[in-house]
Amino acid sequence: MIALGIEGTAWNLSIGVVDENRVILVEDRPYIPKEGGIHPREASQHHAEVIGELIRSVFSKIPPQKIDLVAFSQGPGLGPCLRIVATAARALSLKLNIPLIGVNHCHAHVEIGRWMCGVSDPVVLYVSGGNSQIISKKGGRYRVFGETLDIGIGNALDKLARYMGLQHPGGPKIEKLAKNGRKYLKLPYVVKGMDFSFSGLVTASQKLYDRGERKEDIAYSFQETAFSMLAEVSERAMAYLEKDDLLLVGGVGANKRLKEMLKIMCEDREGNFYAPPTEFMGDNGAMIAYTGLKLFLKGRETSIDESFVKPDYRIEEVEL
Ligand code: AMP
Ligand code: MG
Repeated sequence: MIALGIEGTAWNLSIGVVDENRVILVEDRPYIPKEGGIHPREASQHHAEVIGELIRSVFSKIPPQKIDLVAFSQGPGLGPCLRIVATAARALSLKLNIPLIGVNHCHAHVEIGRWMCGVSDPVVLYVSGGNSQIISKKGGRYRVFGETLDIGIGNALDKLARYMGLQHPGGPKIEKLAKNGRKYLKLPYVVKGMDFSFSGLVTASQKLYDRGERKEDIAYSFQETAFSMLAEVSERAMAYLEKDDLLLVGGVGANKRLKEMLKIMCEDREGNFYAPPTEFMGDNGAMIAYTGLKLFLKGRETSIDESFVKPDYRIEEVEL
């Protein structure tokens, strides 16, 4: 069976086509803000402007008659962006007369990671722009065991980078700066049980910048502090759930220092660390297509009436 998936919860409008065994194609049309961060209305206008052309481009590589179902990211995400994606998915489903499947975006990050790494029941550290959560399966559902109390780690990195005059997305720029950091500057380390928070860390880092500290040292100190917090809660979840496998997913998972710290933590406790290829870490259409296909094979389908967008859709709501 061949599934087409549309992702567009925030910055990346992306279509992926997969079958049970492989990713057939992925095509992206990212929205890159001219200045500042992601503006929901501007992002949705971008998606609306390019989606027709993106669909035509995909169909020039794989004929529409070959597609057996269409999946779309139903939430969580930016409302105006989600509506563009849902409208396109409904139109394709009706036009091609194929089933429609609404997919939870966080669930899709987890599923593509499990698929690509061949790991069945891991503790998952999901770190992206808007989300940062520790997820694992228990009692037939994915549950969130810990999460950020304010902003996602990606947004925190983007915010700090912007403050230091760097263009969006800031994560990769902070990573590059951090490599030349020499001095660790003290920053607030905020872990509360299984939850954590990044806002205070951003504010404190901004103050260091105002005080004239080097960007490289700030970036380095920020990464060391924030990633230690994430490693601590990941380890606590592994111990508490008695699971030996840790899977890293989400756009911030591209960061080599984060991967290194998690790998060391896993090795210290004789566990295993997994991360999918970087191109499948950030938001992409293949993860939506694959998760939609899996759900469909288990008998799931979304009627037009149920295909409304869910900006606050939580992974715990997904019935597996
Ligand atoms: P996502 O929402 O899953 O697509 O992830 C997007 C986020 O990942 C943005 O906040 C980026 O700044 C962040 N990001 C991308 N690459 C890196 C990297 N190498 N290090 C840290 N953050 C990154
Ligand atoms: Mg994401």
